[in-house]
Amino acid sequence: MAAVETATKDGTLDAFPSDDERISGPHTGYDKYGTVDHTYWKCENCDVEATRKDALTDCC
Ligand SMILES: [Zn+2]
Repeated sequence: MAAVETATKDGTLDAFPSDDERISGPHTGYDKYGTVDHTYWKCENCDVEATRKDALTDCC
């Protein structure tokens, strides 16, 4: 039983946010006429935007 308690209190996984927590989206992007143009994802860490979520995996 003691071993189980130690494992749940470890918390090392929480120290590193997953990509899904760091990257928000999909957001709706508009062209200069205000028409829906594309969807994009945004990294909340460094404010980079990309039209593919994959492109943000290694941005920061
Ligand atoms: Zn980033």
